[in-house]
Amino acid sequence: MLEELKKEVYEANMLLPKYGLVTFTWGNVSGIDREKGLFAIKPSGVDYDKLKPEDMVIVDLDGNVVEGNYNPSSDTATHVEIYKAFPKVGGVVHTHSSYATSWAQAGRSIPCYGTTHADYYYGDVPCLRCLTKEEIDEGYEKNTGLLIVNEFKNQGIDPEAVSAALCKNHGPFAWGKDAMDAVHGAVVLEEVAKMAYRTELINPKVAEAPQVLQDKHYYRKHGANAYYGQGNK
Ligand code: 13P
Repeated sequence: MLEELKKEVYEANMLLPKYGLVTFTWGNVSGIDREKGLFAIKPSGVDYDKLKPEDMVIVDLDGNVVEGNYNPSSDTATHVEIYKAFPKVGGVVHTHSSYATSWAQAGRSIPCYGTTHADYYYGDVPCLRCLTKEEIDEGYEKNTGLLIVNEFKNQGIDPEAVSAALCKNHGPFAWGKDAMDAVHGAVVLEEVAKMAYRTELINPKVAEAPQVLQDKHYYRKHGANAYYGQGNK
């Protein structure tokens, strides 16, 4: 079932160790077939070097396993909430990549200090609050997803313009149009997090990049007037 999707999601998962975003089994990627309302996700706690495409688990949007020999990722319920609330999202990734997780542990959103950030995110990458005891005790992973989608709604953040969030004391979630695109975003997020950290080390009083520069870089790659790349050729 959904063999192509499983292959794509497997390959996207294998990019996490390739890009140095995961240690041991710390991370997961999923990708969805919107027509069928089913997604493929990494099995929980299986070594990356032992993973095979057929090991990907197929899950529905109620979080039920539809096919698979393994338990799905422990973060499956978080992926479900992101898919349900953000209809344009086709892939979700979670890692404990060092720099992004360090910002999450520090409880800080990542400010936009330059064009590397502005090319991908319109504004800060937000760090969301830690879950309450009740939210952790009952439905922890589902509540992590609900926190992300509710905070984006409450703070008026467009999940297409900021395709990642930091969960305080936990780590980053990122998403994209499919599983590969989500992983691309996770790699970018880690680089942006690393650069922002070093920027503050070099100059603790640094200010964010001027808004006009942020706008220039974001909108030359996104939206109706984008002209970056070969798309208008
Ligand atoms: P899984 O192996 O269950 O996906 O867990 C990885 C992880 O990073 C948990 O946060």
